[in-house]
Amino acid sequence: MFQAFFEKKFKNNYPLVDSHCHLDLCNKSNQLNNIIKKSESKHVKFFVLPGINSDNWIEILNIAAHYPNVFFALGIHPYFIQCEVDAQNQFNQLQNMLEATDFIASQQQFIAIGEIGIDSSRSDIKLQSLIFKQQLLLAQKLALPVIIHHRNSIDLICQLVRQTNFSHGGVVHAFSGSQQQADNLIALGFKLGVGGVITYPRASKTRRVIQSVSLASLLIETDSPDMPLAGYQGQDNHPSQAVLVFKALCELRQEPPEVIQQALWHNVKACFPRFLVSL
Ligand SMILES: [Zn+2]
Repeated sequence: MFQAFFEKKFKNNYPLVDSHCHLDLCNKSNQLNNIIKKSESKHVKFFVLPGINSDNWIEILNIAAHYPNVFFALGIHPYFIQCEVDAQNQFNQLQNMLEATDFIASQQQFIAIGEIGIDSSRSDIKLQSLIFKQQLLLAQKLALPVIIHHRNSIDLICQLVRQTNFSHGGVVHAFSGSQQQADNLIALGFKLGVGGVITYPRASKTRRVIQSVSLASLLIETDSPDMPLAGYQGQDNHPSQAVLVFKALCELRQEPPEVIQQALWHNVKACFPRFLVSL
């Protein structure tokens, strides 16, 4: 039945969105055209490209200017924060750019602040928390959702979101965690980004959570070129692989694949109000 769905209905149904892919980092040898074409041929027709820091914002703007199906976020990724002076500088740049008259009105593919968050493999959690909170407050002021990066930090992230009274939601990308953590994030208005992790049988805890949360709280993503799927370890990940994440999700869930496919589309729109695509 599953096979029949992919042969007959899949490509006539709602397109898939890779809700988190670093197209700028995938573009190692100017292959972006091919990357996008290959993804589109697999019915992955829209992309969300998150920012990392001020070094890649201009490239992101360039990519978005070339590809109307690439939506983007700008932000300061916690893993790459160097020191307080540099991080504050970058934050000021971000704030100035986003608050400049016209930026948000003219950049229609700009849909969120991100990726931001806390990475506990890095030592300066205090500085990361400060920059995360500043970006949450900026997003609150501009009424924008956020794209959140976590690594062993979901509880702290929830705490900081509450402290700032941030209320525009967004997505916690590459979710892995407990049922309680998933419930807390969903209660705070976040979707869970489901990536290649669910293709690994050993990720049984995350797989169980993704199986049991409401379908309305899920997005799919690849995090390309990182996080290769099971069977593809050691290779660069590719946004076209979002279709395999989708298949793995369909195998985990009770709902029929066409229902999941339609829900994922509506979830992207609910998560990112500026993702104004009509089919
Ligand atoms: Zn990322």
